[in-house]
This record gives sequence, C-alpha cells and structure tokens, in this order.
Amino acid sequence: YRAKWNSAPFLFFETEEDASATEHLQFSGQLHGALEREEFELHYQPKIDLASGRICGAEALLRWQHPQQGLVLPKRFISVAEQLGMISPITDWVLDTALAHSKQWQVGGEPVAISINVSARSFHSPGLIAGIRQALLKAGVDGSQLEVEITEDTLMADLDHGAGILEELSKLGVSIAIDDFGTGYSSLSYLKRLPINTLKIDQSFLQDMANDPRDVAIVRSIIELGHNLNCKVVAEGVEAQGVREQLKGLGCDLVQGFYISKPLPDAGFREWLSHSTH
Ligand code: C2E
Ligand code: MG
Ligand code: MG
Ligand code: MG
Repeated sequence: YRAKWNSAPFLFFETEEDASATEHLQFSGQLHGALEREEFELHYQPKIDLASGRICGAEALLRWQHPQQGLVLPKRFISVAEQLGMISPITDWVLDTALAHSKQWQVGGEPVAISINVSARSFHSPGLIAGIRQALLKAGVDGSQLEVEITEDTLMADLDHGAGILEELSKLGVSIAIDDFGTGYSSLSYLKRLPINTLKIDQSFLQDMANDPRDVAIVRSIIELGHNLNCKVVAEGVEAQGVREQLKGLGCDLVQGFYISKPLPDAGFREWLSHSTH
C-alpha cells in the first residue's frame, strides 16, 4: 500500500506542487506593480432575462495581461493576490473600472447593472463597505446598479461578520448574489435570515443537463428554493440552446454563458450591446 503511495502518483503530485510553487513565486514578484503598470483588465459577460430575452446586467471578470504569458485567467492569480495582501486594492480597482465602464452602457436609455466578484479576504476586510460607498460616489452610480457575488464559503469563513457586511451592502441598495450555488458545504439556514437577492446555479449542474436527469432535478430544486425565498435565480455556464430552453421551461430567471456571449472587453461588449436584439 505504502509502496503505491511512494511511486508514481506521489511523484506526480510532488512535481505538480513544485510547478505551481514556481509559478506562485514567479507571479508573486510580477503581481506587485501589476496595478500600477495597468496590466489588469475586465471582461464583461451579459446576463439575459429568460422571459423577455433582454439583457439585464453584466458580470465583470478580471484578467491579467501578463507581459510574457498573455492573458492570465483569475484562477491562476487570485489566490496569489490574496496571499500577498493585494486583493483589496484589486477589488477597489475592479469597482472603479467596472462602474466607470457600466456608466457608458445604455440599453433603451436604461443603464446596465454590473456584478463584481469579491473573494473571501476582500469581503471580510475592514475597508470593503467604505470602498464600495466611495466607488459609487466617485462614479455617480446608484447602489441599485451594483451586485456583489460571493460564494457560500466566503460567507461561512466568518458568518457573523459576513451577515453584518450583507446588511451594510443592502443598506447601500447593493444586491447580493451567492455564486457557485450548490457546491458549498454549508447548511442552508443562512438563506432565510440574510438579505440575499440572487442564487447563481453552479455551471457544473448545467453543462450536462441535456443528458443527465439528476442535473435537471438539482437545477429544478434550486430554482424552486430560490423562488420560495424571493431570490432571483441565475444559471451560469449555459453553452447550448437546448439548455437555455430547458431552463426557461423550469422557470429560471436569468441565464449567462458562452451560448449568449463569452466575456468581452469593454469595446467588444459595447459592440455586442449595439448588435444584440436582447
Ligand atoms: P465565477 O464568478 O463563477 O465566474 C464564472 C466563470 O465561468 C468565469 O470564468 C467565466 O468566464 C466562465 N464562464 C462563463 N460562461 C461560461 C460557459 O458557458 N462555459 C464555461 N465553461 N465557462 C463559462 P473566469 O472569468 O475564468 O473566472 C473564474 C473565477 O474567478 C470566477 O468564477 C470568480 O470566482 C473569479 N473572479 C473573476 N473575476 C474576479 C474578480 O474581479 N475578483 C475576484 N476576487 N475574483 C474574480
Ligand atoms: Mg461570479
Ligand atoms: Mg460561479
Ligand atoms: Mg467560481
């Protein structure tokens, strides 16, 4: 048994760890100053109202334009940024940038609401609420135009503290979405006592929904749960027309995914808005 552990799988694991440690170290050095060098950018992905087919918001997704590696996705650098204590300044930059961009977007004279992702360290940092209030003032955007996406794990890292933050956010008129819903390990009891506006069904339940009735059962249950709690339900990661139709049939409120649009840079997103019939 032991011999098994000491052979290939272990070596493989070790190698993988080493590689990521190297990358970690490399990224640590390069992330410092990335804000000042203006290497971050935001891509935007539309959210569509299934009943009307109209756009009703966009999610801002962070990218790092790495000088050698090109566009780096958040999975590879967010945790490094958290460990370096850089995540709060990054969240502030995301807020300022996303609010400034969204101010330029109009659909039929109406502004397009923006969602940003806030990770655990940033969510529980003492400056979050002041930062959001300041960013809204600076941009001249109403709190109702902003949604903050957090995961259950972020909330559960310190539920008492998190509950207070959610109360402050809702006082500002900012909406709160639970991201990757259905993948956390927490009980559901927080849902009944916290001001949560939106559940985002994790994409893992949607990718194979057309073939797997168990995914359909889970998705249906989340939609019903969300509606019973007066939450909107968003399905993210919708890649096919069939799934969009299935979701519509199940009464899901909003969809987001490659089938509608990939995340696009500001200019591309505006272009998409001008051509979309949504
Ligand atoms: P998330 O918030 O759950 O975002 C959804 C992810 O799914 C995004 O990946 C998006 O590009 C991808 N996606 C959208 N539609 C589809 C689809 O139809 N099929 C598939 N396969 N994927 C789709 P991305 O942009 O790589 O972001 C990954 C995660 O990084 C996000 O997950 C979020 O947790 C985090 N993140 C992104 N931007 C920020 C940020 O500004 N700050 C923080 N703290 N985290 C961020
Ligand atoms: Mg998100
Ligand atoms: Mg998600
Ligand atoms: Mg996620």
